[in-house]
Amino acid sequence: MEKRPFVTKQQLEEIVRQYPTPFHLYDEKGIRENVAKLREAFSWNPGFKEYFAVKATPNPSILNILKECGCGTDCSSATELMLSDAVGLSGKEIMFSSNNTPVGEFKQAGDLGAIINLDDITHISSVEEELGFIPETISCRYNPGGVFEVSNGIMDNPGEAKYGMTFDQLADAFCILKEKGAKELGIHAFLASNTVTNDYYPMLAKVLFETAVRLKEKTGIGPKFINLSGGVGVAYHPDQKPNDIGIIGKGVQKVYEEVLTPAGMGDAAIYTELGRFMLAPYGCLVTKAIHEKHTYKEYIGVDACAVDLMRPAMYGAYHHITVAGKEEALCDHMYDVTGSLCENNDKFAVDRMLPEIEMGDLLVIHDTGAHGYSMGYNYNGKLRSAELLLKEDGTVEQIRRAETYQDYFATLKDCRMMKKYL
Ligand SMILES: *Cc1c(COP(=O)(O)O)cnc(C)c1O
Repeated sequence: MEKRPFVTKQQLEEIVRQYPTPFHLYDEKGIRENVAKLREAFSWNPGFKEYFAVKATPNPSILNILKECGCGTDCSSATELMLSDAVGLSGKEIMFSSNNTPVGEFKQAGDLGAIINLDDITHISSVEEELGFIPETISCRYNPGGVFEVSNGIMDNPGEAKYGMTFDQLADAFCILKEKGAKELGIHAFLASNTVTNDYYPMLAKVLFETAVRLKEKTGIGPKFINLSGGVGVAYHPDQKPNDIGIIGKGVQKVYEEVLTPAGMGDAAIYTELGRFMLAPYGCLVTKAIHEKHTYKEYIGVDACAVDLMRPAMYGAYHHITVAGKEEALCDHMYDVTGSLCENNDKFAVDRMLPEIEMGDLLVIHDTGAHGYSMGYNYNGKLRSAELLLKEDGTVEQIRRAETYQDYFATLKDCRMMKKYL
């Protein structure tokens, strides 16, 4: 499918007059429309709720939009809990799916009334120690082990993953939790990441629903909610066919009616914890071409680098690039598009066919709305970029300013030694 930016060159030229590149830009309209589609896809399940995985885009302005659309949040750290609290989420609107949980964080989640999703059976005693009791609503994370194969070669390795409990631990945990006062128990599993197939959720649902039935048979306790977690992917590459959330929702419904309803669990709520699917396509990294270099290859240097978007450097991930205003131009030039880090993997694209790029051209790097800004870092003393929101009415709001040198030096033993630069 052809990929088009959600902003035009004209809009971008106006934006960069006020906010210098590089920056991440988010599309409020796209975010809202996508949530509506997700909710429609699961409207057959009265208890359905999406808990947005905060780690994907930890900005309160984004969380607020999602909250207005009826989403809660999925957190796995103290700061993610704080962000959720700050936008007014509380109680069962927050899921705390942590692992190797630092001391004090169960207490923090418990104080907000969040649903705690236990990664391990030993965490039962940690929760009890920190909270002084076991909450009435609580969840357990399941790991079936082995290899999880979805379809057309998409697979992942739960047996190698650090998350979740075995079935026997899950059953034991259910009994212990019930005995300690839990009333509403749930199960959760995350078995494959960035799946670009409509089969992942239905297949995962089958594993979880059958596990729910086995749990009920073995312990007498039927889960009241089943959390399909994240993992629904996006088509980063134009050759990929994007997931159809409507088909995915119907697929899950079919398995629900085949497995849960006959087992007397037709009232179980379905939860999701999507991150990438909710935000990735509705964000882009906007950067300017500042150098060209002709050696053994053709290079275009831009003013963003891997600290703004780590995925290409870290996993060789593909991110589509559009040269603003040259959407219709022939892609007859082969470039490596690079940042300025002293690391040769600091390339947004390698051997990419693009229109001829002139210095000053604005490049739109697609699908950076999730795991983009949030994975940023400060290597080479690079400062982190701003985040902007393109609102539904077409105006642009800065929802996080760019980092300053003050920010960068603030944690030094004596930041005053830098005063001439502050
Ligand atoms: C990362 C994560 C998610 C979101 O994953 P996506 O691939 O972004 O959908 C959901 N739940 C948990 C527990 C996670 O760690």
